[in-house]
Amino acid sequence: MTTENIAAPINPWAVAQQQFDLAAERLQLDDAMRRVLREPRRELTVHFPVKMDDGSVEVFTGYRVQHNLGRGPAKGGIRYHQDVTLDEVKALAMWMTWKCAVVGIPYGGGKGGVIVDPKKLSIKELEALTRRFFTEIEVLVGPEKDIPAPDVNTNAQVMAWMMDTYSMHVGYTVPGVVTGKPISLGGSEGRNEATARGTVYCIIEAVRHLGIELDKARVAIQGFGNAGSIAAQLITAEKATVVAVSDSTGGIHNPNGLEINRVIGWKQEHGTVQGFPGAKDISNAQLLEVECDILIPAALENQITARNADNIKARLVAEAANGPTTPEADEILWKKSIFMIPDILCNAGGVTVSYFEWVQDLNRDHWSEQVVNEKLKVIMVKAFQETLAIARREQIYMRTAAYLLAVKRVAEATQMRGLYP
Ligand code: NAD
Repeated sequence: MTTENIAAPINPWAVAQQQFDLAAERLQLDDAMRRVLREPRRELTVHFPVKMDDGSVEVFTGYRVQHNLGRGPAKGGIRYHQDVTLDEVKALAMWMTWKCAVVGIPYGGGKGGVIVDPKKLSIKELEALTRRFFTEIEVLVGPEKDIPAPDVNTNAQVMAWMMDTYSMHVGYTVPGVVTGKPISLGGSEGRNEATARGTVYCIIEAVRHLGIELDKARVAIQGFGNAGSIAAQLITAEKATVVAVSDSTGGIHNPNGLEINRVIGWKQEHGTVQGFPGAKDISNAQLLEVECDILIPAALENQITARNADNIKARLVAEAANGPTTPEADEILWKKSIFMIPDILCNAGGVTVSYFEWVQDLNRDHWSEQVVNEKLKVIMVKAFQETLAIARREQIYMRTAAYLLAVKRVAEATQMRGLYP
């Protein structure tokens, strides 16, 4: 099943604004503050040429959006995907603002994307596209201004090219301009696993709260890339049973459990999880509805919608992906008493270790993986417990609680800074 088949035509920017409006209303933010926080501060669209291997020239379109810079420089990944839109990047940038505020790291929110299916490019074309795109957005980025990171279809190699491009332009090496770099270039230990590790730290807290025994829990995971496949490994290490996983080509299901390291090997060999011996092939739509205790969406936006929310069997949804659940679906899950760990909390481990990486780069320092994971755990558990306390006190959904925490922090910072000039 392809993205086109499962992605409903829902505008993520409308979703992001709707979520913000809900929080603003509850916090009784004044009208001016609402209008400031409701729009991105800066939106850059670039069209840029790339010479292809056959000598022809293709013109690509990309974006960098900075939603809010009140609490620090913009932070957020760069996505390469054929379905990228400016509205999607705006939504992702706004979610980054709230995410950094939920975990209390000193960043604003940004995001970038290029409309491209990178699987159709050669490695040489991918490098040329990356270097030219980064050059075009250099009016915004910099280690004190805006620090990109990996997102869907970008990785440590892509970050290395970006860092090198920026460094060539300024004439010296600037590791702090992007995070998610290879370790040899100032990347942090544990960054590759950080998003999934943060998700699993949240799940451990949530199951304790819900009285679910993790070693008896069945887990379904949509998306088998950085976030999804590593979450599968880490949750297996916690003795949970992963019963279903999927990627953009479709999913596989075995109610008795999947051997995750073998599934990873299978995907490396065949380019898809489908066809894995001993498992039944299922669609991405079916994956969301399988019998399980914990559902981890780890692919793209708008997967849990008003159309399928009622069919979700999980007791706990842990959003490793950004924006996988629409507001209408949220209402249904809340009524069904399904516990939600919202994206801005659940996948904040990635940006938290990105922050650690940036701190190490600026200080020319290198921490051990143990130090990174310990610091990550402290931040994730604190953010989870702060969110849960609000949810319990106000008797509200966890997403609403996380928004109250985040929007309040950003609004306070904005208020204290005052209005320039
Ligand atoms: P990735 O490119 O490594 O993996 C994406 C995975 O999703 C791939 O397995 C792909 O096949 C699959 N996929 C794509 N379309 C799909 C579809 N329609 N149905 C099912 N699967 C599909 O990307 P990633 O970094 O793992 O990001 C996944 C999600 O996690 C995104 O929402 C991203 O914004 C979010 N996220 C990632 C990080 C990070 O550090 N990588 C941090 C925070 C949030």
